[in-house]
This record gives sequence, structure tokens and C-alpha cells, in this order.
Amino acid sequence: MHKCEVVIVGAGPAGIACGYVLANAGVDVVILERGQYPGAKNMFGGIFFADRMNKLIPQFYTEAPIERFVAKKHYALLINNSEVSLNIDSEEHKKPPYNHSYIVRRSVFDKWFAEKAREQGATIICGTTVTDFVGDGKRIVGVTASTTDDQDNVLLADVVVCAEGANSMLSEKAGLRNRLSMRARSISVKEVIELGRDVINERFGLTAREGAAYEYFADATPGMLGDGFIYTNIDSLNVGVGVVISEMYGRENPPTPNQLLDRFKNHPCIQPLIKGGRTLEYSAHMIPMDGYKNLPKFYTNGLMLVGDAAGLVNNSICHEGVNMAMASGIMAAETILENRAEKSYDSKALRSYEQRLKHSFVLENMKSSRDFIDILRTHKELLNDYPHLMKDVITKFFEVGDVPKSAIKRDIIHMIRSRMSFVRAAKTFAAMLKDGI
Ligand SMILES: Cc1cc2nc3c(=O)[nH]c(=O)nc-3n(C[C@H](O)[C@H](O)[C@H](O)COP(=O)(O)OP(=O)(O)OC[C@H]3O[C@@H](n4cnc5c(N)ncnc54)[C@H](O)[C@@H]3O)c2cc1C
Repeated sequence: MHKCEVVIVGAGPAGIACGYVLANAGVDVVILERGQYPGAKNMFGGIFFADRMNKLIPQFYTEAPIERFVAKKHYALLINNSEVSLNIDSEEHKKPPYNHSYIVRRSVFDKWFAEKAREQGATIICGTTVTDFVGDGKRIVGVTASTTDDQDNVLLADVVVCAEGANSMLSEKAGLRNRLSMRARSISVKEVIELGRDVINERFGLTAREGAAYEYFADATPGMLGDGFIYTNIDSLNVGVGVVISEMYGRENPPTPNQLLDRFKNHPCIQPLIKGGRTLEYSAHMIPMDGYKNLPKFYTNGLMLVGDAAGLVNNSICHEGVNMAMASGIMAAETILENRAEKSYDSKALRSYEQRLKHSFVLENMKSSRDFIDILRTHKELLNDYPHLMKDVITKFFEVGDVPKSAIKRDIIHMIRSRMSFVRAAKTFAAMLKDGI
């Protein structure tokens, strides 16, 4: 049995950020990670939104293992065999700090970040799975953990930070979360497809370390709440789809996530981007979809939840996850430092962690998108009918032939009137603008 000041469960962005700040302040902090190294078990799409990282380690992008910075964003509706899209290609985003948006591979990036925390003095023990919390009847006082050689160990601490990610089994055990529900998680499957740097630059119109983030909606996951994505690494692509788990059930012959991914990859607008590539990796991971209205309790006596374990993901258009994970880890660390002199980490003392979250972009952003998922659930026309209508209207508008423009405009007005209720659409878009996006 060992004792330290703080135990952190999990070496993802939330856990490492927390450990970094604590170690930097001279706290005796131990991070326990079940993977053989930090990042071994971690995957995402994905864009590392790095504003927090840049504050923690100024100009981190000059030394961190970054694949590319996000120079181009592409938002597209896939409709049957077509695509309607919006491109953002801003010169401003091609200069440091690159709109704080970087494409990274978690297996190398998390390892690098963990090394930085180690340099500050954090102890990181890998190959160690935390199996439960230890309590003294009043508060959490440590954890039990098993190592790869099946040794069970107890590590005691003044306070525990749980950064276990989306598969929040320990947080449930502590009674801070309800049982994981299919509505509260989406499942993402992703392939890393090797293609070669020059081919990627040519296909996506990139030079040097410029990268592209392509997001696909509507028929990317037909009729289901989800999306598809392509992100450019240096010489490979991350290609994936994600869908809320409950959307796959209650249907006749629901597609498996792999079938959805195959379908996405074979779409005529996606195929040309990935053709000739070789699949290097296949992975799957959950994303919390709790949303602002169903967040867990963030703390109890001797314990705080951070990052995905606390449901801190903004499921609106931008998929903010890592930045919220890092910010919450840092705020948990600040709360610990504030109470360190008294060594008092009961609920009363830890309440200031929740206050910090509330007064930061983390809960502010989640609050302002609090109805996003509910609106999509109850207004399926946003996933199906409206995107199809939009594509038909745009296609019609740009039609060139012997039909006069006045007739085309009449057709468009008729199309819109017959396929959309103005009152319902106005209400839906107003709700989306107010508390959706
Ligand atoms: C497909 C996909 C795409 C995404 N895209 C984006 C994006 O573009 N931008 C964005 O900001 N976010 C994105 N996210 C979300 C983002 O990845 C998460 O929000 C973020 O990783 C959360 O960080 P975390 O530290 O809380 O958890 P994690 O990164 O999941 O880290 C948890 C760590 O805890 C360890 N662990 C778990 N249980 C135990 C245990 N019992 N004992 C010891 N160790 C344990 C795990 O091995 C892991 O290392 C995406 C997620 C997915 C799946």
C-alpha cells in the first residue's frame, strides 16, 4: 500500500493536463494508465483544439508531434450520390497559432504530452488498470489497481481525479453517473488509410503541412443521428463515421458500424478522395452524448470527474472534446491547489470545481448547444428532407438549358412549398439558433 497526494485515473488529455499543472506546483501526483503507454488505447477523428495547450505550453506546436494544422474545413451534405458543400479556406488559419486546430495521432501525441508532465515531476504508471475506488465510509481515499502481471495494488491519496474517458465504469461505481445508456453514447469507427503525402496534397489542394478537415452529414449516416469525416494526416487519412448508438436499434436490420463505414467509403463523392489507399488501422471508440441537461455529478468527497468521464463534450457542429477535457483537468488541478494547505477535499471544498466549470467556456458552450441533439431527434427532417430539398433547389437553380430562368424559379418555389412547412421550419431553425448551435 502506497500513499501520494493525488491519484489521477487515465492518461488522456484531461488526466495529463491535470497532472501537468499539479506536478508543476510541486504536488506528489501519480497518473495510472491502463494502456502500455499514454495514448496506446486512445483514438479520435480528429482536430485537437489547442487553445488550452498553447496556454499550458506556449508554442507547443513547434515541438509537438503534429501531423498537420487545419488549413481547410469542408462541411458537406451527402445526398444520395451527390454532395452540397461549404468550404472554408482562410489565409489567417495558415499562420501560427493556426486557429488552434491541429490534426494529431493520439498514440504519439498523448505520449509526448505525458512526457511533458513527467518532466514537471508527475509519476505516470502504465499497464495499470484502476478497478475500483477505496473509501473510508465518508470519502474516497484511494484506488485499487491491477497490473499486467495480475498484481492487485492499493494506492491511497488525499484526493482522486477520475479521467477514465467515455467508458465511465468507475464514475458509475462511485454513484456520480447513471448507467451508461445507448442514447448517451455514440460509437465511432475509423480507418487510417495510407495514401502518400503528395497524393493527399494533390487531392485536397494542400501544400507542406497544411491539412484538411472534411465533415459529412445527412446521408453519411442515412436517417440516423451521426456524421462522417475525413482528416488528413501527413501521409494517411482518418476516415470514419459516428452514430448515436440508440439510432441503430428499433430498426429492421440495423446496419453495423462497419457497414456504415463501408457505405460511406463507397459513396461516389468519397471514393475519389481515398481510392488506391491501404488500410493501416481500424479502431472504434465511444463519444459521450450526455449533453448539458444530463451531465453527471462532477464531484463527491475526495473525488472529481474530468473530461469525457464527466460528459464534457460539446456535441454540436464543432465536436469540442479534447479542449474541454484539458480545461476541466486544469480546473480540477486548480481546485486541488486552492485547498492543498488545509488538505480538505470534501464535497464542500470541491464545489469550487463546478463553479470553475460553470464560469468557463466548457459549460457555457455546452449550455448554448443544450438542445442540439434533442432538436435533431425530434426534427428528423433536418437529417433527411431538408438536406435533400436543399440539394434539389441548388441543383435546379444552377441548371443551364433552354428552360427560362423565370420557369426555374417557379419550379423552385413550388418545390419548397410542397416539401416544407414554413411555420414548422421557421420554428425549428429558430430553436436551433437559440439553443442548438
Ligand atoms: C471518433 C472520434 C472523433 C473525435 N473528434 C474530436 C475532435 O475532432 N475534436 C475534439 O476536440 N474531440 C474529438 N473527440 C473527443 C475527444 O477525443 C475526447 O473528448 C477526449 O479524448 C477526452 O479526453 P479524456 O482525457 O477525458 O479521455 P480519453 O482521451 O478517452 O482518455 C482516457 C484515458 O483513461 C485510460 N483509462 C480508462 N479507464 C481506465 C482505468 N480503469 N484505469 C486506468 N486507465 C484507464 C484510457 O486508456 C485513456 O488513456 C473525438 C472522439 C472520437 C471517438
